[in-house]
Amino acid sequence: MDYHKLAELIFPQINGTISELEERYPKRNLPEGAFVTRFAPSPTGFMHIGGLYAAMISSKLARQTGGVFYLRIEDTDKKRELEGGVNEIIQSLKGYHIIFDEGPFLGGEKNYGPYKQSERKNIYQICVKELMKAGYAYPCFCTTEELNAIRQEQENKKVDIGYYGKYASCRKLTYEEIEEKVKNKIPFVVRLKSPGDYNKHVTYCDPIRGSIQMPENFMDLVLLKSDGIPTYHFAHVIDDHFMRTSLVVRGDEWMASYPIHKQMFDLCGFDAPNFLHISPIMKMEGSTKRKLSKRKDPEAAVSYYLEQGFPVESVKEYLLTIANSNYEEWHALNPNLTGEDFVLSLSKMPISGALFDMDKLMNVSREMISGFSIDFCEQQILSWAEKYEPDLYQFAIAHEKQFRETIGLWKMSGKKVRKDIAKWSELMQMFDYLYKPEEKFEQTVTYEIDEKYTKEQMKEAIEEYKKNLFLDSKQWFEEIKVLGEQMGYCPNIKDYKKHPQDFKGSISDLCTIVRVAVTGHKNSPDLYTVMKVIGEQNVQRRLDHFLKKLFSL
Ligand code: GLU
Repeated sequence: MDYHKLAELIFPQINGTISELEERYPKRNLPEGAFVTRFAPSPTGFMHIGGLYAAMISSKLARQTGGVFYLRIEDTDKKRELEGGVNEIIQSLKGYHIIFDEGPFLGGEKNYGPYKQSERKNIYQICVKELMKAGYAYPCFCTTEELNAIRQEQENKKVDIGYYGKYASCRKLTYEEIEEKVKNKIPFVVRLKSPGDYNKHVTYCDPIRGSIQMPENFMDLVLLKSDGIPTYHFAHVIDDHFMRTSLVVRGDEWMASYPIHKQMFDLCGFDAPNFLHISPIMKMEGSTKRKLSKRKDPEAAVSYYLEQGFPVESVKEYLLTIANSNYEEWHALNPNLTGEDFVLSLSKMPISGALFDMDKLMNVSREMISGFSIDFCEQQILSWAEKYEPDLYQFAIAHEKQFRETIGLWKMSGKKVRKDIAKWSELMQMFDYLYKPEEKFEQTVTYEIDEKYTKEQMKEAIEEYKKNLFLDSKQWFEEIKVLGEQMGYCPNIKDYKKHPQDFKGSISDLCTIVRVAVTGHKNSPDLYTVMKVIGEQNVQRRLDHFLKKLFSL
């Protein structure tokens, strides 16, 4: 077969050559040891936490070696594409302080772009045409039915499933037969003519796993689909070569494809980059470990952490603890440094899938938040609320001072910084009574009632307190003590403990009843300050609401 003639028949319009591409995309001029890494998602609009993890690792490896980190959009599967998906990816990673040096809409197009695979058709076709000229690619006209029949036969015979050897019928077509089919516009894909032998091995070397022997690829895989768009395998080889990636960081589901990729690099005459196959983030289901699933687990989505109000810093910190086993130890020794200063080590990455541990994330986050200043908390809560809790946002804008006071009240309990919040939504659950509009508060409040108080006792306490809230008095606590004493509540806790039978309760019981009626909660920061924030009129309204609901509780 005259392969040149075949290549001209299949790609009459394609003129470039691989050596021209080599010139157009020259080796990057970077210091020795600098990594060129990339993040290569499909634009589905869904950002998996595992994607963030991979992007964080890739970007860190590039940063810490003075390399380049770029974004490539793998949009060869048009069915999965979502409008605005690319921007979504860029923005959500930016939120996690992961910044690309190059990528679609980000600059660098003139250097190594385009960065969207759908815009690189010509580049892929130049390369396939050359492979065809060298006798390593051929058109395949098999229909889906024919491919299914091959599969069926292979299943029955219990042999390897795929297009290879005697099953690869289009390998044997003559030039004339091909020409005839092309003339008749019969659709075709272009396949690799694999020179591989299953009994020979390729050695795959991984910084985490060491070297692994795998059988050579012997399947005639599809390089270009019938629309001229490449498959992942081929696109990855061409793109990582011409974008000059030096370290491909990707999920370990691709590790088994290494022999395919290595063969394609070799046949194209390219040096293969290094690979780091990272293990996925897993979840325990019963007693089995499985991958975090987009469909089943809300925590698989990066958006979940944003909605819940986990600070970006906490999530990153947690992912670092997964990425390198020595991270926590390092941080304990360097308390004044942040994750940004940590040097990630390839050899300390986990080999098997790390378990996603929500409790651990919560702990990391509590610790992280406790170290934030009040100002920083305020900023973070505001930007979270603007998107996810509009009632709170309105409140914060309208009552700036009270909002700030609330954060201060929560943050410092006595002299100790509190560590009871892992995400902003928790803080807001704790303080819903402060910012919810009255109607919403009434619809949603649930009262944390202590069994030790009878309904009659609570009714009496609230009715009495309602007569005078003492909110104008600087001596609020003194006033309520007097009121309590008249009603039979001991003003002094110590005395009460000595003779509990002589009283209805202590002053703190009376305060608890008022607190529950006003806020719904048994605990709150200083009740007087809280009521001042809520305002006298609304406090009255809440006491009335409580009385109305009390006997149906
Ligand atoms: N687009 C591929 C994926 O979705 C990327 C794999 C790679 O990073 O090479 O998994």
